Amino acid sequence: MNFRQSCKKKRKKYFIMLKFVPILHENLKRSVTTVSVYVGTIKKRNYAQQVLALLKEYYPFDSSLSHLKRIKETEDKKELLVIIGKVSLIGNVSCLFKDERLQQYIENFIHCFVSDSPPLTRQQFLEASKYWPVQFHESKIMKSIIEGTHLNEAEIKQGLEFMHLVQDIFSTENRSAAVIVNPVDNSILAVAHDHTESDPLKHAVMVAIDTIAWQQNGGAYNLKYRKNDDGFCIIDSNHLLNNLLTLNSKVYQNLKSGSGGSGYLCTGYDIYLTHEPCVMCSMALLHSRIRRVFFRKSNVTNGGVQSVFKIHCEESLNHHFEVYKMTLNKRKFEDI
Ligand SMILES: [Zn+2]
Repeated sequence: MNFRQSCKKKRKKYFIMLKFVPILHENLKRSVTTVSVYVGTIKKRNYAQQVLALLKEYYPFDSSLSHLKRIKETEDKKELLVIIGKVSLIGNVSCLFKDERLQQYIENFIHCFVSDSPPLTRQQFLEASKYWPVQFHESKIMKSIIEGTHLNEAEIKQGLEFMHLVQDIFSTENRSAAVIVNPVDNSILAVAHDHTESDPLKHAVMVAIDTIAWQQNGGAYNLKYRKNDDGFCIIDSNHLLNNLLTLNSKVYQNLKSGSGGSGYLCTGYDIYLTHEPCVMCSMALLHSRIRRVFFRKSNVTNGGVQSVFKIHCEESLNHHFEVYKMTLNKRKFEDI
């Protein structure tokens, strides 16, 4: 997932490696941790169904073990082993030897270690399976994000153009900037920078979302939006931004404007930012149903998608979006 751009000054020796690095849940990187359980040997293979029924009634599986298969074969495939339950819940193993209901079908109770949580990646699945077989339903999208193949070359190239635009706004206005685009046709729907001089809450993200709301006959900021000659939706008083888009129209000739549409706010749209959104803006992006967030600089004191929180990874929230940070690495051609 990278895009190479020649470095002008030392064209022959260096190139700039631009990458969009996905910001993922910490749990995706964790190693497998284990919990101790009691395991017994099923006396005859054809007892398996009776054993499962018996355990379901008297030793129901703890929900935290639901990712584990209850029965597995021994390595020589001659016998079946079954998990009875967590050592911490059953107590001393003598309780199992005294239980006549179990004695009918199961023998040789021992304790062993199994993974204590469901695998989220293939790597975790393979590691957990070394302890005991686990259920695993691999998400194709997550797999491609982890492997770095989720964004194709065309998307990366287009994304870098949008990042170039927000960076230009930042350089011109000296304020954090945001651009919302429709990835279906790569049209630009909103171009904004922060207006905190008039209102401390008017961060670039909030203004950009409000611009979309205005195009959908809503909006709360009353910033007097309009479309400029190129069709880009801007704030009427924002002459510098207007000049940037007009004067550099050759640079941006491949970029086109679009309409905010009639859907719900930013549903299906992507946003490009100079800075990692703060916690407030991250929640606003979540509420507006943004699809993907791309940013350049981390916000170490108040960042909501990497630095302080990873709001897009909170499982309890009802909308999730992808987040990518753009990174630049200067590398020698000889390193290729
Ligand atoms: Zn903010």
